[in-house]
Amino acid sequence: MIEKTLVLLKPGTLQRGLVGSVLTRFERKGLHIVGMKMMQLSDELLSEHYSHLREKSFFQRVKDSMMAAPVIALCLEGVDAIEVVRNLTGVTNGRNALPGTIRGDLSMSYQENIIHASDGPDTAKEELKRFFKNDEIFDWSETSINFIYCSDEL
Ligand code: ADP
Repeated sequence: MIEKTLVLLKPGTLQRGLVGSVLTRFERKGLHIVGMKMMQLSDELLSEHYSHLREKSFFQRVKDSMMAAPVIALCLEGVDAIEVVRNLTGVTNGRNALPGTIRGDLSMSYQENIIHASDGPDTAKEELKRFFKNDEIFDWSETSINFIYCSDEL
């Protein structure tokens, strides 16, 4: 099934000059970029986005890190895009993430782990609504689509 998912390139990714490297990984995989924008996040938005971490001792520290510079929000589209992007992202702690994954190749930290990616269909829907307005997501057709998938995959 064709799905849309949310990715955030975290402030450390901009600070370390890794934006292009990360975007290239998604493009080369065959994921379709249908939304992209730079945003300065607020404590309020992050409290909602990371509400599942509110009891953790590092909650405020994680939010502060996400406000240290702008983020780049992406809406990526593709067949099974949510799972594909999570697999490409790697596990949360960059030191344990497998080589070949974005976190595994580009990070050494539990917190400073390069990107956020939605972890399931419900969160993807909720998070895309949180970060994008309807008219910021573009329905453009990719001319190379038949070289990315075969006809019965679409
Ligand atoms: P993920 O981003 O892999 O979906 P979570 O939703 O559990 O992971 O956590 C959100 C973010 O909070 C992580 O990406 C990471 O930046 C930070 N974080 C989570 N757990 C820890 C931890 N134990 N120590 C430091 N930072 C953490």
